[in-house]
Amino acid sequence: MSLDFNSPAFEVIRNEKKCIQCKVCVRQCSNKVHSYDDEDNVICSDDIKCVNCHRCVVLCPTRALVIKKYPLEFRENANWTGAVLDEIYKQSQTGGVLLSSMGNPKSFPIYWDKMLLNASQVTNPSIDPLREPMETKVMIGRKPEKLGFDAKGKLLTKMPPQVELSVPIMFSAMSYGSISRNAHESLAKAATELGICYNTGEGGLNRDFYKYGKNTIVQVASGRFGVHKEYLNAGAAIEIKIGQGAKPGIGGHLPGRKVGEDVSATRMIPVGSDAISPAPHHDIYSIEDLRQLIFSLKEATNYGKPVFVKIAAVHNSAAIASGIVRAGADAIVIDGFRGGTGAAPTRVRDNVGIPIELALAAIDQRLREEEIRNEVSLIIAGSIRNSADVVKAVALGADAVYIGSAAVAALGCHLCRSCSTGKCNWGIATQEPELVKRLNPDIMYKRLVNLISAWNHEIQELLGGMGINAIDSLRGNRLMLRGIDLNEKELGILGIKYAGE
Ligand code: SF4
Ligand code: SF4
Repeated sequence: MSLDFNSPAFEVIRNEKKCIQCKVCVRQCSNKVHSYDDEDNVICSDDIKCVNCHRCVVLCPTRALVIKKYPLEFRENANWTGAVLDEIYKQSQTGGVLLSSMGNPKSFPIYWDKMLLNASQVTNPSIDPLREPMETKVMIGRKPEKLGFDAKGKLLTKMPPQVELSVPIMFSAMSYGSISRNAHESLAKAATELGICYNTGEGGLNRDFYKYGKNTIVQVASGRFGVHKEYLNAGAAIEIKIGQGAKPGIGGHLPGRKVGEDVSATRMIPVGSDAISPAPHHDIYSIEDLRQLIFSLKEATNYGKPVFVKIAAVHNSAAIASGIVRAGADAIVIDGFRGGTGAAPTRVRDNVGIPIELALAAIDQRLREEEIRNEVSLIIAGSIRNSADVVKAVALGADAVYIGSAAVAALGCHLCRSCSTGKCNWGIATQEPELVKRLNPDIMYKRLVNLISAWNHEIQELLGGMGINAIDSLRGNRLMLRGIDLNEKELGILGIKYAGE
C-alpha cells in the first residue's frame, strides 16, 4: 500500500455557537464531508473530502459554516509551490494522468481587461437606449457578396440558411451526459424564451428535447454519438466539432458510470460503457475531407441548415480558419484556452492553446485580407464573463459568442472544478438522480433568462454610449477599442491603438 501524502485543500470551520445541528450539511454534501456522531451528539467534518462547492455554506440556515483554504504552508519556494508538490504527491500515489474540470485557472493575461471601449462626447452624440430603438439581433450564416432588390425594395437574392439570434450570445456545447438532464433542459428552455440557441455538445439529442429544435445547435463530434438524419434535421444548425479550447488536440471521455439508460439511448451506446471520442475525426485529414463532411451534412439536411465548424484557438488558427471558409462552412467557432469542460487532462488544459482575444483578432484580420470575411460568421467561446466581454468581442470581429461557465454559474455552479467526479452538489455535472433533482429546470431556466436579459440591457447601454444603435455596426470596428498595459506586438495582433492615441 502506498502512503497518501496529500493534505486537504480546504478547511471546514463550523461555528458551534451558531450551529443548531439541523444536519442540512450532512444531507446535502455528496462528498460526505459532514457526518453526525450520535454518540457524542456532534457534527463532524472531514476536510480532505471537501471540494469547496459551497453547497453547505449557502444552505446552512444559521450561516454557521465557513470554508477556507487549508492553512498548510510549505517552506517558501517560488519554483516548488504547494500546488506543484500536491500534484506530484497525487501522481506518485496513483500513477495516473491528472484530470481537471472547468477552464484554465492560471494567471495568463486576460486581454478583455486590457481593452477599453470608446464613448461619444459632444459630437456624434450618444444614444439613450431607454428612449430610442436599439438592435441587438444578429444573423449567423454565410452572407452573399451582393444583395439584389426589386423596385419595391423586396429582397431578390436567395439567402443561404441563417440562424437568427435576438442577442449575439448562445449557450456553449455541453453534452447530456456531462451535464444532467435538468441542466440541459434549463439551457433549452432559456434559449427558447430568449430567442437564442443552446448546443447539444457531442452527446446527441434526447427525443424529449426535439421540441426545442429551433433553438438548438446539434453537434457532430469525432465519436458521432447520437448522430442520425433525424438528429441533424432536428436543430437550427449543425456544428462539426474538431477541437475544444479546454483540451485542444485530444478527444473526450465520458465515464461509464455517467451513462445510464437515458444517456445510453441518446448517445446510442450501451448502458455503463465509457463514451470515448477519438482525438481526430477518422475521416478528416485535409480541408478537402472537411469539405466532404460539411457537404454530406448539408445534403442530409437538404441544404436548409448552416454548418458551423468548431476549432480550438491554437498557433495557426488564422490559416486553419481560411481553409474552413474555403471548405464551405457557414460559421467558424473558435474556442479559447480558458474554455471550460467537464473533464480534461490538467497538463493539456493548463498549457495548450492560445487566448481567444488574440486568435479572434488574427482570424478576422486574415479573412478580411483574403476578402472572404463576408462568407462566414465568426463565433467565439472561452471564458466570456460579462456583457463588456461580448461587446469587445464584437468590436474585435465576432458575430456572436458562446457562454458556458457563465451559464452554469447562473444555474448555481460555484466553480469547484470537480465535475469529473460526477458528484456535483448543484445538480449540474452529475447523473445521480438524487443530485439531478436538486436543479428544477422550470425554476432555474429563469436565472439564465435573467442573466442574458441583463447583459442585453448592458450591451445596449454600451452601444448607445458609443453612439451606435445596432450591434451589426460595431462588428470589427476596432477604432472603438483602446489598449492598456499591452506591448507593441500585442497591440499589433489585436489591431488596436493604445489608450491616449
Ligand atoms: S447546516 Fe449549518 S446549522 Fe445545520 S448542522 Fe450543518 S453547520 Fe449546523
Ligand atoms: S458544475 Fe458542479 S462540480 Fe462542476 S464546477 Fe460547477 S459546482 Fe463544481
